[in-house]
Amino acid sequence: MIYLDNAATTKPCPEAVHAALEAMTDNFGNPSSLHRAGLNAQLAVDRARKAIADSLGATPDNIIFTSGATESNNLALRGISAAYGRKRRRIVASAVEHASVEETLADLESKGFEVVRVSPREDGRFYPEDFLAACNEETVLLTMMYVNNETGYILPVKETFTAAKRRFKDIITHTDCVQAYMKLPVKANQLGADLISLSGHKIHGVKGVGALYIRKGVRVLPVVTGGKQEKGIRSGTESVPLICAFGAAVEKLSTTISERWEHVTSLKTRLTELLAEIEGVEVNSPADGSPYVVNISAAGKRSEIMLHYLEGRDIYVSSGSACSKGQQSGVLGQFGITGKRADSALRISMTADTTEAEIEAFAQALAEGIASVRG
Ligand code: PMP
Repeated sequence: MIYLDNAATTKPCPEAVHAALEAMTDNFGNPSSLHRAGLNAQLAVDRARKAIADSLGATPDNIIFTSGATESNNLALRGISAAYGRKRRRIVASAVEHASVEETLADLESKGFEVVRVSPREDGRFYPEDFLAACNEETVLLTMMYVNNETGYILPVKETFTAAKRRFKDIITHTDCVQAYMKLPVKANQLGADLISLSGHKIHGVKGVGALYIRKGVRVLPVVTGGKQEKGIRSGTESVPLICAFGAAVEKLSTTISERWEHVTSLKTRLTELLAEIEGVEVNSPADGSPYVVNISAAGKRSEIMLHYLEGRDIYVSSGSACSKGQQSGVLGQFGITGKRADSALRISMTADTTEAEIEAFAQALAEGIASVRG
């Protein structure tokens, strides 16, 4: 099997599997219990929390575990709106956010918040000054993802957040770093981020766990209330196995960010060369985007048809964004990719384990598919 859908999910690494298994066999206590079994579970959660905090240049008390980045994004947007949104009712966001941000924004909009969405310019690029122009004194929150999950485009988060905070001292900044984390350095202070959303299963952890970094002093009201776990910000017994798997994956990956980036960049270069030889194929991702995600258009052949053709060859890619179950999200349109070009979009997303031979096999299969399938 050639798995090129790593932006949808990744294979759990052996370290993550081992950590989860240990927490389901030897160390299965409830971290809130007062006896030793509880304490041992608590220590395992603490270790994972420290690994994630260290990777962000933060401290463990900044980290709240959630069920995934969808929940982290909901908690960030709803929790900030509830805490600070009485007087300041404007939220500024990029127009290319993941559905877990976009749908939450739409809901807040229906509850009376004014949401301003900033689009890329005609050249397909975002400019910090466009976000700044959308912000005003009434702006409670500025949210923008770091790496776009459909194209790999890298948004100017640091430049925008730094400038916004200089001009509007009370503005709160949130970034969905799901597709950037463990691929690019994600440091809370350098980015100027008050809130950062992360997901375990995109970095070779396990599905069902994520985290929200919250800067000290920033108040996030809970969405899920109950037994006051996670400092009362996210109640519910912590999923110790999934949290341990998340921590183990971070411990493994955090020292090799630049080496992996280099390897995947060379894969993207090779892929781009091979695609240039196939008539009608266009690359939709920017050359300076994250190499982990390459969006292409397959010579007018409908995405789904090509996806299933490739599946027949045991090659797995995604049409647009896997989260949208084949539905066009409108994000490609924001980047100027429309019509037939959008209808034939495929997303190839790699990981450090992807090999050049796999990329070559994919390109060969794609060329044969384009020649053999009908529209
Ligand atoms: N944000 C982005 C950018 C994503 O790519 C995804 C996963 N598709 C999510 C949020 C949601 O993450 P999770 O699956 O952990 O809820």
